[in-house]
This record gives sequence, structure tokens and C-alpha cells, in this order.
Amino acid sequence: MIFILLGPPGAGKGTYSQRLIEKFNIPQISTGDILREAVKAKTELGIKAKDYMDKGLLVPDEVIIGIVEDRIKEPDCKNGFLLDGFPRTIEQADALEYILNKNKLKLDCVVNLIVKNEILFKRLTGRRLCKKCGANYNIYTLPPAQEGICDKCQSELYQRDDDKPETIEKRLLVYTKQTAPLIEYYKNKNLLKEIDASEGTINEIVDKIEDILKS
Ligand code: AMP
Repeated sequence: MIFILLGPPGAGKGTYSQRLIEKFNIPQISTGDILREAVKAKTELGIKAKDYMDKGLLVPDEVIIGIVEDRIKEPDCKNGFLLDGFPRTIEQADALEYILNKNKLKLDCVVNLIVKNEILFKRLTGRRLCKKCGANYNIYTLPPAQEGICDKCQSELYQRDDDKPETIEKRLLVYTKQTAPLIEYYKNKNLLKEIDASEGTINEIVDKIEDILKS
């Protein structure tokens, strides 16, 4: 099973991915998470990527494509994987197709999460992440039991630098311009399924995605 969760920033890709990988027993490949780890570790990649991320811009295609190509060769991807936050441009989508073909793999499905813009803004400004385990929370819709503390590992929660209002606006614009064309791209390849993810609980949306993937 190889599938993509597509959708604007704040659509819930990370949250749903964390649940889906448990159900399907496949890894989540989140390019955003990989880049944030690299920034934290101050690696060459992290230093290069940080500037783009802080401005709400996309990291250059050639950098991201290399990361994904290496990651899908890891042994834990042998039964499939979920791509979260990749591809984000037509060039990345073409590269993914080429890489999958080269490795005799096939993309099964692309699930596009549709969420209204005003909801996205609230979700992004309210988002908090665990410093240690990466678990997702939202101060409005999914607060932790104790303010600022992760329910799972009791570590401190933080707000992503790019979840500040000025950067959110930029990221939403970048999404519309560079990533939204992928909806048409995958529709034309008969791989696209769409879900209205503006309303409903996390479990309800995860169930909808699961039904699509099982069918
Ligand atoms: P995310 O966590 O998916 O929202 O990604 C956070 C940031 O990482 C984005 O705003 C980009 O700067 C960068 N990023 C993540 N994935 C990609 C990608 N596939 N292509 C280019 N930049 C990316």
C-alpha cells in the first residue's frame, strides 16, 4: 500500500497519518518532519532548509526528491508507506512516479483533504507539537489533558516557528500556487479521492480515509 495524503497546511495530514500508520502498519514519510529534525540537528540539510521553512517557502525540489528517494529504500518501507507533505509540486510528483517505476512500485491512491480556509487558519495557529515524540495537539480542538504537556510522554509542547500568522498566510498562498495543481494532476491519473475534512471528529475522518483505502 503506497498512498499520499494531500491537502493544504492545517488540513490534518500529520494527525491522520499518525493514526493511519498504526492501522495499516506502514511508516509515515513526512518531509516536513524530516526537515524539522535536520534543522534541530543543524545538519547541512537543516541549515539549507531552515531559511525556506521560516519564510513559508518550499525547499527546492532537488533537495526534497533526494531525501524521499533514499527514505523509501529503507527496509521498513517494504510493505508500503504513507507520504505526508510530499509531493508538493508537479516536478516532485513526476519525480515520485519515476522513482516508483524504477523500484517497480506503484502508487495506489491519493487522498485529498478539503478544508475551508478559515478553519485552516485556526487549526494552524492552535497547533502544538510534542518536543520529544512529535504528537500533535491543538489548543482549540485537541488540547492535552495538562496545558503545554504531552499526554503520551509528559514532555513539553511547542509551537512551530512557521505556525505564526504571517508565515501561515504565505504557506497558504504557496499551497494554492504550487501544490493545489496536484489535485488535477492526480485526477487525470485516476488516482484521486476527495474527502471533506472541514468537519467531523478525528476518528470520523480517519474512518473515511480508511474506507477509501480499503476499497
Ligand atoms: P509541513 O510540516 O509538511 O507543513 O512542512 C513544513 C515546511 O517544510 C514547508 O513549509 C516547507 O518549507 C518544507 N517542506 C516540507 N515538505 C516539503 C516538500 N515536499 N517540498 C518542499 N518543501 C517542503
